[in-house]
Amino acid sequence: MNNREDNAVGVAEGLGCGLGRQDGLESALTGAIFNAAVDSMLVINAHGIVQALNQATVQTFGFAEDELLGKNISMLMPEPHARAHDGYLHDYCAGGERKVIGIGREVTGRRKDGSCFALHLSVGEFQLDGQRLFVGICHDISDRRKFTEHITFLAAHDTLTGCVNRHRFLQALDLGMQACKGAGRQLAVLFIDLDGFKQINDHHGHGIGDLVLKQAAERFQKSLRDTDMLGRVGGDEFVASLLLDGEANRAEEIAERLIASLDEPFVIGGFCLLVRASIGISIYPGHCESADGLMNEADIAMYQAKVDGGNSICLFSQALREKSEQTYRVVSRLRKALELEQFELHYQLQVDLQTLQPSGMEALLRWRDGSRGLIAPGQFIPIALKYGLMPTIGQWVIRQACADNARLIAEGLLDVTMAVNICAPMFSGADFVPLVRKTLSDSGLPANRLEIEITEDIAMSSSVQVMQNAQELRAHGVLLAMDDFGVGFSSLGRLKSLRFNKLKIDRSFVSGLPGNASDQSIIHAILGIARGMQMHTVAEGIETQEQLAYLQAEGCSQGQGFLFARPIPLVELTDVLRARKLRG
Ligand code: C2E
Ligand code: MG
Ligand code: MG
Repeated sequence: MNNREDNAVGVAEGLGCGLGRQDGLESALTGAIFNAAVDSMLVINAHGIVQALNQATVQTFGFAEDELLGKNISMLMPEPHARAHDGYLHDYCAGGERKVIGIGREVTGRRKDGSCFALHLSVGEFQLDGQRLFVGICHDISDRRKFTEHITFLAAHDTLTGCVNRHRFLQALDLGMQACKGAGRQLAVLFIDLDGFKQINDHHGHGIGDLVLKQAAERFQKSLRDTDMLGRVGGDEFVASLLLDGEANRAEEIAERLIASLDEPFVIGGFCLLVRASIGISIYPGHCESADGLMNEADIAMYQAKVDGGNSICLFSQALREKSEQTYRVVSRLRKALELEQFELHYQLQVDLQTLQPSGMEALLRWRDGSRGLIAPGQFIPIALKYGLMPTIGQWVIRQACADNARLIAEGLLDVTMAVNICAPMFSGADFVPLVRKTLSDSGLPANRLEIEITEDIAMSSSVQVMQNAQELRAHGVLLAMDDFGVGFSSLGRLKSLRFNKLKIDRSFVSGLPGNASDQSIIHAILGIARGMQMHTVAEGIETQEQLAYLQAEGCSQGQGFLFARPIPLVELTDVLRARKLRG
């Protein structure tokens, strides 16, 4: 036994532990506390040499008692820590100057198997037989540290994909921009929005949608470098920041790589799903100085990539900003349009194709803007939808249309159904059916004189509320029509379960008649399906006698188009109907 080991035994004995000699009550008590403590306790001398240890130390660090006694404390610390900042106990003893006793701090410990863990260490100093000694009390806090790390991770990451969240992305981007500024370097932000993701969510449910997002994030991550950062900032919106390092085209190249990473369909839950992406790019330094602004520029460019048809890349430019500011101006004018009573409904008659008598009419929205005159729905409804204004506008539409139809019926001018176009956010809301009921009762319009037109994307949505609303409307006696049939995704099963009263055949199939063979086949097939499911059919956009003759011969029940009537305001329609009534 060398001198140090000899000394260690002496200390252990002095403490009434280790080899177990007990001199008096105090020593017995100290020994009992030492050995029964749940926390690891180690006594070391001023050179960092272990003099005594308790049972909990053996359990915590995995070393046997005799493997530690007489050895340097640094063997319980990971190498770099032992030498640097974490060698607290060692430091403390070796320096001998620091007199802070009992104050603890978090350090890293090392087990015999080499694994590291977090522990809380407090140190006490005492004298034994004239020797200066230190007792270190170590509490294993690895579970607490893991929990804290997990909470910290959650605060900065998206749990589904593991990508950083918007807040962390912006923080890191800000730092990146500052670093670039000083060093004369460039970075790019890519704003990535998945095309067609909403349909996947609607058709296959959120579970499958989530898996698509997760796998898309993995594919994106693989297309990036370790130094690039990927974040998820919204449902199907991702962002990436890239250091350009003098490679002028790197942003476009990476964007193309990200788009190409989606070429392969996702095979999930037995489905083969194709998703595309639209990507906007902004470059720093450029037009703006803030991280938020840089991301906003990439977002504006992404929106343009969508407008260009999707599955494409667009680089931000000042012209794009002007265009987007123009959109914002439209949005703020649209917000005021209801208040200023600038919306109007125009009504287009539908006719029975055998008798050519009115069989219904459709309410079509117009915006009479102070400076620009009459604006068609195609120019403002997509913006109103994007900015969440459509449900409010839609409420006005349905109330006005029902009130006008009730008046036409009451005046004995026309007694047909009024078709009203309803957008997805409105039709999938829990308050839609109550709104319809209230509107009918306020206007006095019979339920079977109101027809709700929805498009295929709404009909095919997996939303339970959509199914429920359709059922409740039918039970109430309101009619249901599928608009623009044939241009979207449709499932015959869903057509059957929603039990539409009418299929409106999209104008794009009518315009090629009677010559276009594909349109002929499509019309023939749609009419066959509708007949089999006892649904009426309305051909949209009939403009010529030839189209009319063809559709009559094919057995289409109703038609709508400029050949019969254009959409006109209520006053004009009333005049037409009065004149018709006078003619008898
Ligand atoms: P839609 O519901 O399919 O309405 C028929 C559209 O075809 C109308 O365009 C109508 O003017 C046009 N049309 C009718 N016959 C002919 C024809 O013979 N030839 C041609 N070239 N066009 C014809 P409009 O009024 O511009 O409306 C466009 C779309 O805007 C509507 O298509 C509908 O999807 C939407 N929309 C209109 N009003 C509303 C509304 O109040 N709410 C919602 N959510 N959407 C609306
Ligand atoms: Mg319609
Ligand atoms: Mg239509």
